Amino acid sequence: MLLHSGSCAVCKTEGELIEISQFGKALCPSCFPAFIQRHVRSLMRRRQMHRKGDTVAVALSGGKDSAVLAHVLKEISWNMRIELVGLHIDMGLGAYSELSERVVRELCEKLRIKLEITRVSDFGVSIQPVGQFRQCNVCGAVRRALMNRTTRNLGLQVLATGHTLDDILQFMLKAVLSGHLDAPRPVLPPSEHRPRKIKPLYFTPEAATSVYADLLELPYTEEQCPLFDPAGRRFNEIFDLLEQKAPMGTIQYAHTMLRAMKRVGKDELKRICPMCGEPTNTELCPICRLRRQQLGED
Ligand code: AMP
Ligand code: ZN
Repeated sequence: MLLHSGSCAVCKTEGELIEISQFGKALCPSCFPAFIQRHVRSLMRRRQMHRKGDTVAVALSGGKDSAVLAHVLKEISWNMRIELVGLHIDMGLGAYSELSERVVRELCEKLRIKLEITRVSDFGVSIQPVGQFRQCNVCGAVRRALMNRTTRNLGLQVLATGHTLDDILQFMLKAVLSGHLDAPRPVLPPSEHRPRKIKPLYFTPEAATSVYADLLELPYTEEQCPLFDPAGRRFNEIFDLLEQKAPMGTIQYAHTMLRAMKRVGKDELKRICPMCGEPTNTELCPICRLRRQQLGED
């Protein structure tokens, strides 16, 4: 992100401007939020992320990206004819989870959206390593399973997550380096057991969500998850450098990769968990794997 003075690309007013290189435009602080809202709305329309009358579950972690997603969706909800429900999963990770929940509650009150909370502890388990899977991976798998399950149990059609361009670039490069092309797509169609999953911030860089969250004073925490593994973000510098050397290069990379990608992906849940009947990729669903390990259930 670059801060300099000049004339805003939208309203032409002279003053301090925000320039996000991926957008190729410099905007004043009052035009910036509406620009992001138009950017997200246009991606949602182009990719057919919603239907009129849908209620969208917005997955809220307490971090800035999902806070921005909720605010943007709220702002465009009337125009898009959608309703929103906030969805938070309490992963039971001590003080970090308590703080996240507090921030999410504050956000939903500010945006006047209903909040639904699902707790891992209600399933009688806690997040622990399972076999060769580290805690962070177990946490991610359980979280995705609970987000799907809660959205479906609420009878909602769409689940939106706050994954940003920065997240997507990491997934894409990791996929290429592991010899496949199955990074996440902007829209995953619904299946019998799963709502449509959408990523409205797919082409929105984190440089933009940071500015947006601060301009609008959205409640969020910068606290790092205690299970956070920095290796997950090891390619950040590569993309920062790419964007520096070739402005808009990261967006172009994501567009080209997306075209090249086949629609396979780990998210294709093909089996049914024999213990609980939930869809899964593995022999048992992530929650039942924990139940077997921690409660000895079979
Ligand atoms: P992360 O994997 O932490 O980068 O999170 C990606 C997205 O998943 C976030 O932007 C949220 O939309 C969603 N998410 C992460 N953690 C939670 C949580 N505890 N509850 C609900 N949604 C979450
Ligand atoms: Zn199960």
